Amino acid sequence: MSVNRSQTFSLVLLWIFASGVSAQPNPASLPANSRLFDFYERGPYRAEVVRPADFFGYRPGEFLTTFALYESLLRDYGRHSDRLRIFELGKTPEHRTLYLLAISSPGNLARLGQIKEQLASLADPRKSNGGDLDNVIQTAPIAIWLSYSIHGNESAAFEAGIQFLYQLLASDDQAITDALEHAVVLINPCQNPDGHERFATWYNAHGDARPEHYAYEHDEPWSIDGRLNHNFFDLNRDLVALCQPESRIATRAFLEWHPQVLADHHGQTKEYFFPPPALPINPNLPAKTTTKWLKIFGEANAAAFDRYSWPYFVRELFDLFYPGYWDTWSSLHGATGMTYETDGGGVLGYRWYRDDGTIVTLRDGIAKHFTADLSTVLTAAANRRERLHDYRDFFESSVKGPQRKCYLFPVPNSPAATELLALLQLQGIEVSRTNREVRMARGTDRYGRDFTDKLIPAGSYVVDSAQPYGRMARTLLDFETPEDPEFLTRQEQHRKANEKKGTEESKDDYEFYDVTSWSLPLAMGVEAYSTDQPIQADTVEPISDRQKAPRTPSGEGQETLSETQQIAGVAYGFDSRSPHSMRMVVDLLQRGYRVETSNEVFRAAGQDFPRGSFILRAERNPADLSAVLGRFAGQYGVMVKPISSALSDDNNPGIGSERIFSLEVPKVAILAGKPGDQTSYGLLRFLLEQSYGLDLVPVPLSGLTLDVLRHFNVLILPNGEESEYKKELQGDQLDDLRDWVSQRGVLICMGGSSEFAADPDTKLTSSRILGAGEKSDKSTEEKSKKQKEPGGNKQDDKPLEVPGAIVRAHVNRDHFLTIGYEEDDLPLLVQGNAFFQRSDTGANVLTFEGDNLKISGFFWEGNTEESLRGTSALIEEPIDKGRVILFNCEPGFRMIWTSTVRFLLNAIVYGPSESNKTGK
Ligand SMILES: [Zn+2]
Repeated sequence: MSVNRSQTFSLVLLWIFASGVSAQPNPASLPANSRLFDFYERGPYRAEVVRPADFFGYRPGEFLTTFALYESLLRDYGRHSDRLRIFELGKTPEHRTLYLLAISSPGNLARLGQIKEQLASLADPRKSNGGDLDNVIQTAPIAIWLSYSIHGNESAAFEAGIQFLYQLLASDDQAITDALEHAVVLINPCQNPDGHERFATWYNAHGDARPEHYAYEHDEPWSIDGRLNHNFFDLNRDLVALCQPESRIATRAFLEWHPQVLADHHGQTKEYFFPPPALPINPNLPAKTTTKWLKIFGEANAAAFDRYSWPYFVRELFDLFYPGYWDTWSSLHGATGMTYETDGGGVLGYRWYRDDGTIVTLRDGIAKHFTADLSTVLTAAANRRERLHDYRDFFESSVKGPQRKCYLFPVPNSPAATELLALLQLQGIEVSRTNREVRMARGTDRYGRDFTDKLIPAGSYVVDSAQPYGRMARTLLDFETPEDPEFLTRQEQHRKANEKKGTEESKDDYEFYDVTSWSLPLAMGVEAYSTDQPIQADTVEPISDRQKAPRTPSGEGQETLSETQQIAGVAYGFDSRSPHSMRMVVDLLQRGYRVETSNEVFRAAGQDFPRGSFILRAERNPADLSAVLGRFAGQYGVMVKPISSALSDDNNPGIGSERIFSLEVPKVAILAGKPGDQTSYGLLRFLLEQSYGLDLVPVPLSGLTLDVLRHFNVLILPNGEESEYKKELQGDQLDDLRDWVSQRGVLICMGGSSEFAADPDTKLTSSRILGAGEKSDKSTEEKSKKQKEPGGNKQDDKPLEVPGAIVRAHVNRDHFLTIGYEEDDLPLLVQGNAFFQRSDTGANVLTFEGDNLKISGFFWEGNTEESLRGTSALIEEPIDKGRVILFNCEPGFRMIWTSTVRFLLNAIVYGPSESNKTGK
């Protein structure tokens, strides 16, 4: 299920394991290329700027520099270099400082404020006249942004940043001093200090320079995974949702500085990679200039590498499509955005056998980044004027908007819309609001369906693509971002070639690097329309999102519900449909307040409460109930209704009805460690703890015993490899798990853990994976019947893997898992090729039915839709008094797919009480 998320990573692992350890020559007899390379060949060097090796006591590549040690070097440089300004941007979750360093000539540093203004003026041509901008292009330095160590375990990147910083500060080589007259180099030395420090500390303790692949130092533990930040997020996927502090802080600085060039440094490939990138290239980028500059920087790097006879690759693997990577993101914000991947270091440690028996070292990896950086800075400085000119053009053409689109959001007060629009503003995108009703003659809805003549109410939010960051706006808001036809044709060719191959024969690789669709109105569940008509609207002040749960209500802002404090009711009720209500009910339950609910509409205080609404009875709660609800209502922004009588004045049940039942306090455990996937675990923890304030206990695999599980009523198994789940969770432990479920436990599975649950041996659901072989326990008769139905399940065909597309799912709106969803259809992300056949014994809550399942992204013609049809995306499988809940994909994927989070919350908040409803 997790094919695409860390595809490169898997490729490297594959290579690591495939290359094996055979025929190892004696390392001492091997010439390392890096011996030809010297870090100090650009002298003379200034004595007052200390060499990192002298400061640290080890040479480049001999030890991993901790972030703390790096900071002391930085302080020393701050005192002794006249080419450096140090900015502290903010803090990481573990309280480390995020820095931005500005390196330039002393003259430029003295006028940094003016330079920032000059570059900002190029990025918004609406505010200046052409003559002024021509003058800026003549006089302003070019800004080059170099960022290191976003993946904290790609150690060569961090070390290269140190060596390159020294070079820029200490070298009096003419080429470097000239370049610093014409350029400001902005260094983000460590984008992920928390991940870096985890990895560096672990590796320094165990690294022994053993090149054998089986050596312990190459087996980074699950809990270290320095690739990820403190919250176990991959920061180089986060630039769509910007949910992590490191991403928000760095992008804010980027938008303030307006760099023209960006290189993001990594380190996990077999050979060095730099642009030109692979296809597809995001079609919202200006094709000609984007390609031109990627080629210029790529060719300069190539020449620099050729001097050392270093191999490298271009136009493969790393594309420029998904906007959540730094290269694509910065390109959509006007820069020449580039990914640099080096070969040595990281999980390969200090030394590592290549498949031909030669050795690649950490020092090699550092040297190559260093060389690419030098080439990048010199190339940028040499092309300063032309690059600044094209930078202005990027924004001029954006503002003119040749394919102008206006996006309208007619329900401005929905929490999802507020979150989406606040996010757009974080992306630098201007949001405005209409002060009158708008009649759209024509346009498209968020599903890409055309309409004519639509009225949009006054007060709707508007995003006009004719603005500086209009290209980013289009990328995030269009229902589909098309991929290069040449790229798609090539994938079809791979498919044809693969279809001719034998079942065991090795197959062509498909080249999708990531999800092929991420449209925010679809992913976040926000009603939106677009039109090519310009819409009159006023720009609005920053919108604040309320993503986080206030964990300790302060008692401020009680305006929403002063009435509850005055009117003592027999009970209080609130609707559950907004995320704020779910945050509030979690808080109330965890504080011991008794809350009830119903799966049906009920009637109280002269109004209908939708199914899933919450009731708190005065009789069953502490005396401070009314005061607490008054406070919480203001804090969470939830409307609480006092109910003065249990009498229902119509046919719907009242609050005393038998159909009202108590909610259990959710006591939630999540599997931490293998076989779960780290990013899935990180996502779930972040989402549930930080967005919803849920108490969550991470429990290791060894803790999944009846003894431990009896403390919980919910257990979450994150996404992970199905085979690993099968290997790790079996025998008595699996029996224990099943016993716990049957005694009112709620087991939540997703992706690979759902596949595991659908394995016939696991006995957790009657659903089976489509094409998983003759394991289905359905009768032969049933099977043949199903196969005859159009779109019926085909037992033997494993569907082709979907890289990540948006599919229309049908919502079973009678089921408790769908409380809060008010439409029959939902756009859903589908990834991979594990499609779940309908459960015969449980509830199929989200299903793929009928024609036109595809909304956006890549589908395999004649395969994806046909395979998906008739399968389920969300299943509730009752087992005695408990239930297993199976998601096909991770709900809330990357915090982009927020529209699916509610299913997960329903499973946690209502799931444990379902037996109360049924009286079991
Ligand atoms: Zn990386």
